[in-house]
Amino acid sequence: MRPDGSEKINHLDEASPFQFRCHGDLPCFTQCCRDVNVYLTPYDVLRMRSNLKMGSKDFLAKYTRYFLAEKTHLPVVQLRMNAKTLCCELVTDEGCSVYQDRPWACRMYPLDPTNRQGEYRAMVSEQKCLGLKEPGLLTVKEWLVGQGIEPYLLMDEVFETAIPSVLVLSGKLEFGAGKLLFLAYDLDQFAAMLKDKSFRSSYELSDETIRQVEEDQEALLRLAFTYIRSQMDELLSTA
Ligand code: SF4
Ligand code: SF4
Repeated sequence: MRPDGSEKINHLDEASPFQFRCHGDLPCFTQCCRDVNVYLTPYDVLRMRSNLKMGSKDFLAKYTRYFLAEKTHLPVVQLRMNAKTLCCELVTDEGCSVYQDRPWACRMYPLDPTNRQGEYRAMVSEQKCLGLKEPGLLTVKEWLVGQGIEPYLLMDEVFETAIPSVLVLSGKLEFGAGKLLFLAYDLDQFAAMLKDKSFRSSYELSDETIRQVEEDQEALLRLAFTYIRSQMDELLSTA
């Protein structure tokens, strides 16, 4: 099956053939990096800022817009588009400047997971995304593997454990809990908290754990998720 706009393009599973090849000779090259809403996860932020060798505060200030959603108080972190050109601040004539560490949503493009587990659809037509007309046939699974999706999915599973299911089901956080969750994006702030001796002893963090997270930002992110969860549980128990 080729993605010719037939109904099947909306019902791809991992075994489905997927015809797609993106490259710099296409007239649409980098057009998909313009005027888009790219929502970032904490792991996206970590990968991108590590690529750019930037701290979390500086990265968030320079390349994103972020806020707590008005009703749910969930942190919303989006890639910032240039006010004049409407292009992502990270795109160049040669393509994405952080390609090896581009966010999950950019890796997935032009596919989008549907609400059904393991099902995908193309989010744009082949008139807009010309790579969908290029020769190059893989299965969806092979393409996903090539996009390096797996570590993003694994870290998302850990992210999900940071919020107690009762809060997930309510779809709403207290303002304080939203701010707490934002710590996973702003890991510099969490790292600064770890420097406090009394904080370390309250949470029984060993010197070995501290050494580990100082050397490994992914370990720091995992620890932040654990801390956020413990605080959320405490908030719930006192509610
Ligand atoms: S629109 Fe599609 S083919 Fe064109 S650059 Fe973007 S992903 Fe590649
Ligand atoms: S992060 Fe890279 S791939 Fe994603 S929109 Fe920006 S330039 Fe494009």
